[in-house]
Amino acid sequence: MTDLRLNSNDEQPSSRLADLLAALRTQLPENRIRTGNDIPPRHHSDWNRADPQCPAALLQPRNTDEVSLMMRLCHAHGQSVVPQGGLTGLVSGAEPRRQDIALSLEHLNSIEGIDGAGYMTVQSGVTLEAAQNAAEQEGYLFALDIGARGSCTIGGNIATNAGGNRVVRYGMARQLVIGLEVVLADGTVLNMLDKVVKNNTGYDLKQMFIGSEGTLGIITRAVLKLHPQPRSYQCALLGLPGTRNAIETLKLAHAALGGTLSAYEVMFPDFYDYIPGIANLRQPLAPEHAIYVLLDAQGSDAGLDARRFQSFLEELFEQGLIADAAVASSMQDAQAFWALRDAVSELPLHIPKRSTFDVSFPLDVMEAAVQEIREQVNQRWPDALMLCFGHLGDNNLHIVVDVPGTQGRHAEDIESIVYGSVGRHNGAISAEHGLGSKKRQHIGVTRSAAEIATMHTLKQALDPQGILNPGKVL
Ligand SMILES: Cc1cc2nc3c(=O)[nH]c(=O)nc-3n(C[C@H](O)[C@H](O)[C@H](O)COP(=O)(O)OP(=O)(O)OC[C@H]3O[C@@H](n4cnc5c(N)ncnc54)[C@H](O)[C@@H]3O)c2cc1C
Repeated sequence: MTDLRLNSNDEQPSSRLADLLAALRTQLPENRIRTGNDIPPRHHSDWNRADPQCPAALLQPRNTDEVSLMMRLCHAHGQSVVPQGGLTGLVSGAEPRRQDIALSLEHLNSIEGIDGAGYMTVQSGVTLEAAQNAAEQEGYLFALDIGARGSCTIGGNIATNAGGNRVVRYGMARQLVIGLEVVLADGTVLNMLDKVVKNNTGYDLKQMFIGSEGTLGIITRAVLKLHPQPRSYQCALLGLPGTRNAIETLKLAHAALGGTLSAYEVMFPDFYDYIPGIANLRQPLAPEHAIYVLLDAQGSDAGLDARRFQSFLEELFEQGLIADAAVASSMQDAQAFWALRDAVSELPLHIPKRSTFDVSFPLDVMEAAVQEIREQVNQRWPDALMLCFGHLGDNNLHIVVDVPGTQGRHAEDIESIVYGSVGRHNGAISAEHGLGSKKRQHIGVTRSAAEIATMHTLKQALDPQGILNPGKVL
């Protein structure tokens, strides 16, 4: 691919870039192209802030035709493009280099409508929260939910195949997308805005773009699947004597709650004991259990669901699966329970140089894997802090490790320990955040050489010049 770095004095863009910017300015309306100090610093990086750099230009299209035109011109000039949504990604997937052009979808922010079948069509820059609110106003639930809901966009959610708290009930972003519109590297528009559940007409191309982190195409519009608004809600925080109990309790919850189980989050004691101190929260249960489970059930019949929830908890006590439970008697109680789990957003302030992991393990080896990682970390750094929490209902654990006073110097060694365990136990190095540039060198831990080669073949076919989000994923 042509090298489009700025000239050595770093002031004048290469003539190829200058030609491209001139063509873009001629063919697009005003206010679509920003350069230099006119680019807001937030476009220099995503939430991970690994290596913030001002891109060569920022493009701000308003509709699919403009995205298509921009990509056609960038393609013709061999210009690399980094798609940006709400910039809440945690793996530097939307972080540009200074020779890249950042293409922000934030102004494609219209909710086009909700039809009678419960499908919502949106532009990709709509925030997750705006989509949730629009669904709620029409009596529906858009079930995807993550902590970054106020800023992250539907396009970013789809490009990362986002997960979150409700996957155990409704699936990941992939399960909530029924149609997609994508602009390819050369500007071709693929309109796959289906509204039919069954469509086995050849390959289902949209699946290829979901989770592709902006490396195969730019998502411009989507048709989202909505669910009925729940009419009942139960929430409890459970204290359990062991990790294995959490897995047994999960099985029983699936069987006993009549399909209403909507969240199943675990907090290990290290997390449960540490978080209240930094977030000024109280612990609803005494800190004396081997593991804590935060459980939500959403149903359609308040009376029946409450009775079913109560007898489920009684069964857990009778079987000795749980030692204690705090049941939310109001929305305020439930929010207080969830505040513990959501306080994870405070961690960057308190442990800025921490190593963070978003990994999956098969359920039957999860306990052994966590134990193995903990032992290795403690053996190497006896004063290390290790916090473990996550979406046990979907095999997903988040692990945070910090070795005090070392300013993150041991990050690579910590990675070796965690990813070594992931590899040995057939887990995944990225459960839901993606690879971006942060984790791409570890892809071989989870994917075979044949899988990686097939990914390269796909990338080569769709983006032969490699202009879409270079240096990410592969
Ligand atoms: C507090 C907090 C909590 C979080 N919790 C969760 C969680 O529970 N589960 C979870 O999965 N993630 C979580 N995340 C990570 C993040 O919010 C998600 O990855 C989210 O889906 C990213 O959306 P975004 O719009 O911010 O995308 P960005 O960060 O802007 O981009 C993410 C990736 O998608 C690409 N991209 C963005 N928009 C498009 C588009 N329209 N077309 C093609 N490619 C595009 C980018 O190039 C980049 O590779 C959390 C983040 C924070 C800060």
